[in-house]
Amino acid sequence: MSVQHHPAFDQHDEVAFFHDQASGLQAIIAVHRSWDKPSVGGCRVRDYQTEDEALEDVLRLSRGMTYKSVMAGLAFGGAKAVIIGVPDEGRRRSVMGAMARIVHRFGGRFRTGVDLGLRPADIDVMQAETPFVFGNNALPPSNATAQGLLVSIKAAVRNKLARPTLRGVRIAVQGLGKVGMRLAVLLVRDGAGVVVGDVDNDRVQHAREELGVEVVDAERVHAADVDVFCPCALGGILNDRTIEEIQASVIVGAANNQLAEPSDGEILRQHGVLYAPDYVVNAGGLIAAAGGLENHPAGWIEGKIEGLAETLDSVFVAAGRQGVSTNMAADRLAEQRITEIEASLKAAA
Ligand code: NAD
Repeated sequence: MSVQHHPAFDQHDEVAFFHDQASGLQAIIAVHRSWDKPSVGGCRVRDYQTEDEALEDVLRLSRGMTYKSVMAGLAFGGAKAVIIGVPDEGRRRSVMGAMARIVHRFGGRFRTGVDLGLRPADIDVMQAETPFVFGNNALPPSNATAQGLLVSIKAAVRNKLARPTLRGVRIAVQGLGKVGMRLAVLLVRDGAGVVVGDVDNDRVQHAREELGVEVVDAERVHAADVDVFCPCALGGILNDRTIEEIQASVIVGAANNQLAEPSDGEILRQHGVLYAPDYVVNAGGLIAAAGGLENHPAGWIEGKIEGLAETLDSVFVAAGRQGVSTNMAADRLAEQRITEIEASLKAAA
């Protein structure tokens, strides 16, 4: 299927495929919108089964970045990079170096940073090749993402459960990577009862020993008997099968594209589950990157992250008023902002 006819295409400004012969790197970069600032989105590393699977992921993720950006009150067009195939340790440095040189060729029009599968050490390798990769600063993007999730969980718990704090609230975290592990630390610190699951046993053991959290099977963490479910691993976790098994009445997590289908948001609504749209609540990393990119003063990043609670509340209110799912209400708000930004850029041209 041609890229332009792909169901996830959504009028992308640019989609480019790369192959670096020396390192074996295969990658795709998708730029959903190019406005008057750089287009921004993380770099994902994953063992895709097919190139089409990678293409679908990058298109959906870069579009999601535009929505995330505008809902966070920013005006960066969305973009994303995917590296196809997790490189073995022997060639990892050369793959990351090659990816960074490709990012550099965009001349700053596209900026990237951490996402699923990318490690802090990879960022060091990439930053040696180009200034157009974020990360490993005073507030690493993943920690900022976790901070934004904490703010959002508190807002959703106030809204749905009328609980003023997280003390005693039971919360399941799926995925103990860069975001999930940091989130588990913050939740334990706030007195929540934390349950975790990850396919990586070392991470699970670390969390059990260092944080004293309860561990459940990675495949069953979505079904844990908790108040809040936090998907912080892969997308598509909210689907026909899992929704029937979810016990939580609130869902707030980092993973992008958590709903397998947009209609799953409506099913959650009918089940009485308050779903916090992923791109609204996982914007902390993007906010941290924007702070560095635009040289905002101290306190700006923290203030913007705190502001996610207000944005999320406005989504809940709009969904209630319109009688629609929270994901549909968020999409409508985001699309209105995109239209406004594009109209003002057109007027200024
Ligand atoms: P990561 O690669 O550091 O961690 C992912 C974790 O999920 C790993 O520990 C992995 O073992 C685990 N995992 C994979 N499959 C699993 C399964 N089936 N069940 C349970 N655990 C599983 O990734 P990350 O940077 O922490 O990002 C997590 C998610 O949040 C991703 O979907 C990413 O796109 C999204 N996200 C991340 C950021 C960020 O700042 N890093 C920002 C926005 C969104």
